[in-house]
Amino acid sequence: MSVPARFWERFDARSAAILVSSGCGAFLPVLALGSPTFVRPGMMPALITVWLFGVALLLFTARVGRLTDRQFAVVGVGAMVCIAFSATIVTDPAASRAIVALLATAPAIAAMASTIRATIGFSLTAILLASAFSAVSSTSVIGGLVAAGASILTVCIPVFMVVVLRSSLEFAMERVALVGEIDPLTRALNRRGLIRRHARVFGHCADHRRPVGFLLIDIDHFKEVNDTFGHTAGDIVLVNAVRVITTAAPAGSLVSRIGGEEFVVMFPVDSVAEISAAASRIRGAVAAEGEVTVSVGAVLGPIETSDSGPPNASEIMDQLTRTADRCVYRAKSLGRDRVVMQTSTLIRWRPGVADESAEFPQDPPNGFGLATIVGREIVRHRRGTAA
Ligand code: GH3
Ligand code: MG
Ligand code: MG
Repeated sequence: MSVPARFWERFDARSAAILVSSGCGAFLPVLALGSPTFVRPGMMPALITVWLFGVALLLFTARVGRLTDRQFAVVGVGAMVCIAFSATIVTDPAASRAIVALLATAPAIAAMASTIRATIGFSLTAILLASAFSAVSSTSVIGGLVAAGASILTVCIPVFMVVVLRSSLEFAMERVALVGEIDPLTRALNRRGLIRRHARVFGHCADHRRPVGFLLIDIDHFKEVNDTFGHTAGDIVLVNAVRVITTAAPAGSLVSRIGGEEFVVMFPVDSVAEISAAASRIRGAVAAEGEVTVSVGAVLGPIETSDSGPPNASEIMDQLTRTADRCVYRAKSLGRDRVVMQTSTLIRWRPGVADESAEFPQDPPNGFGLATIVGREIVRHRRGTAA
């Protein structure tokens, strides 16, 4: 009988690992009931209590689903205390040592998704408990030292491996995300890359009480370039155009290719003269290359932060694009190779992540897999929200 996908979807990687490890471990104390001499005399009630406590932690995790850091700390430390106590009351030394080795699971699970501080805390607790056990149960100093050293390695190696794998995976996911945000031809940001960053420009401008400068740049008669010289030549012209636009744009501008031969440049400005100068500089620099000319729609958007209502960065982008588009249209009808400027009405920017989250793929309706869980966690990490 398979567990319904919906059940597993409630867990993140860390909670699922607790569920699996404690679920499997919960059977072990039951075996002791078959042999009364397996635990120290009079300790059977204590073992049953520990077992009940372990089962309670398991049920708690199953009920809560995705544990918060605090809940994980309680469950993890509780599980470690159960393990350490069980190791001290069994009579078989081999079973006892093997139970102590289980202390390494909690730090390894912590390393999957907890903070570095929590992971270090779990590792130190596991090392301390395992070393204390070694000190008490060893018959010689050397034996105690070797056991303590082996305990440290048993805890540290899995933690190290999980941390390294987690960092590599996060790095790879960041790279994949970045690849999806960059136009492969020109290496400028694509539309998605722009959407993931435009809020930073709004935030900077609103914080520093500077208007947003928004330029929509459209190459003139680009179809003719393709038709006359071929698409490969057209591609080279696009690459050159991005290089020239990026060089001529104000330092720190967000430069993106939002369509075939259309580009957006965003930057903070202080005056109409400043945005006008930036737009003219870009237009002039492209024309100076001698390949093509551009029509530029320049919009100066005074902006302030507003606290009421849902995040609206995407709406503002649509509004700026529409206004700039009208300017480009006018520049085209006036003969192309020119800048048309307009000042927009006051923009009331409502910060937040809702606009960006729309860019992330929705969670799959069902299905369970490590990649899905880890992927979701990295998405949460990138959004900057705690698990
Ligand atoms: P206008 O001055 O009115 O803007 O005219 P235009 O020819 O630039 O505009 P139009 O929209 O008619 O044509 C745009 C062309 O851009 C059509 C399309 O084939 C070309 N294009 C879009 N993406 C690419 C690309 O990646 N490479 C090449 N070579 N051409 C592209
Ligand atoms: Mg166009
Ligand atoms: Mg064009």
